Amino acid sequence: MRLLGVLGGMSWTSTEAYYRALNTQVAGRLGGLHSARLLLHSVDFDGIAERQHSGDWPGTAEILAEAARGLAAGGAEGLLLATNTMHKVAPEIEAASGLELLHIADATAAAVRAAGLGRVGLLATAFTMEDTFYVGRLAAHGVEALVPPAAQRAEVHRIIYDELVLDVVRDESRAVYRRVMADLVDAGSEGLILGCTEIGLLVGSGDTTVEVFDSTVIHVAAAVEWILG
Ligand code: GLU
Repeated sequence: MRLLGVLGGMSWTSTEAYYRALNTQVAGRLGGLHSARLLLHSVDFDGIAERQHSGDWPGTAEILAEAARGLAAGGAEGLLLATNTMHKVAPEIEAASGLELLHIADATAAAVRAAGLGRVGLLATAFTMEDTFYVGRLAAHGVEALVPPAAQRAEVHRIIYDELVLDVVRDESRAVYRRVMADLVDAGSEGLILGCTEIGLLVGSGDTTVEVFDSTVIHVAAAVEWILG
């Protein structure tokens, strides 16, 4: 097994899901008492979120680059950045650590293409829905992302930062997400990307009529292939 370095804590509620899924899948593949070989650096999310919202992306990159260098020094052979949003600074992290980064948008786009789809809705933080680093990367793989209108984007973003990253899962917020998902389907989405690693805590395939692509689940599957590759 190759040793995977994981940059987590963004937020811890999704890193917990990553950790469980990585181990469950490796155990499922190898049987016995096997589990995933991992090196985890879980950051304090408060400082990351504050810098995101003030637009200090170089500051976030510095924190994560230092953590990634530590993972490399500890023997990690590859890097998993366990958040969609922070892939905005993935090139800086990859360059600083010298480690191969398993990009979440590449894995997600590959899953959408493998399902034979090309036009999908995207639910994520405002940073991920509104910037080009993610939507552009999907487009480069032939996946067109539809995003909700501004008011819905703000509400989707608010629920992530005010609730899901704090491990708060509310029925009222699930109803909001279901409405946003239904509107994206009405607008022509053939599938829906859960492009934020906490969204799977709130909604899943039972909440819509189209295929759901949960970036956490997909990212983990790609990581397990790499670990066992
Ligand atoms: N985990 C989230 C994501 O996948 C949002 C938190 C963050 O900004 O890292 O985008």
